[in-house]
Amino acid sequence: MSSIVVLSGPSGSGKTSIVKEVCQRLGSERTYFSISTTTRPPRDGEQNGVDYYFVSKDEFLEDIANDEFLEWAEVHGNYYGTSLKPIKQALQEDKIVFLDIDVQGFDSIKKIYPDIITSVFVTTPNKEILIQRLQKRGTETQESLKVRLINALNEMKRIGDYDYLLINDVFEESVEMLEAIAKVSLLKSNKPDLNTFIKEWNK
Ligand code: 5GP
Repeated sequence: MSSIVVLSGPSGSGKTSIVKEVCQRLGSERTYFSISTTTRPPRDGEQNGVDYYFVSKDEFLEDIANDEFLEWAEVHGNYYGTSLKPIKQALQEDKIVFLDIDVQGFDSIKKIYPDIITSVFVTTPNKEILIQRLQKRGTETQESLKVRLINALNEMKRIGDYDYLLINDVFEESVEMLEAIAKVSLLKSNKPDLNTFIKEWNK
């Protein structure tokens, strides 16, 4: 059985670090963390094919035309998209698929995979801590910091639509929580293959 765990939340809330640690703990046999494609320029230390696939706007538009994306959205003035093929493959391999996507992406994925999706909204205990983390990361200009904060508040208004709210205060505790959520995501009982399971069970 496979599942999709969607994580949304403000940039700087720590989503990516938490997911990476959970994938490390559960192992690559059981998990797949989707690498998105983006037109955003790489930050210092980010690697193509590891953090994102960094492409030009023209390349991105070509990928859209070729139906390469499961979903895509414009976030903070850049394009971001989730590639279709690796997700399908990971689901076939009965993995837990983690998607770090914004609220628009969540809306799209929920429509495509309503039966196997578990959603988690990750944020900081308050705005001040988010500002501190973004400043510490040192990757934002004053202008992009402003855009990200406005976007953060808009995204926060959607918390109620997610299954879980994870307030990332102590990193270790957040990892424990997400690991638990990920394991339980496999047990959702509204799976499309439930009838097959019942037939097999009754043989
Ligand atoms: P960042 O530029 O900080 O890496 O990401 C900005 C935002 O884009 C984050 O909220 C992140 O979750 C979102 N994002 C990253 N990849 C995707 C994607 O493939 N699809 C969508 N819809 N959002 C994405």
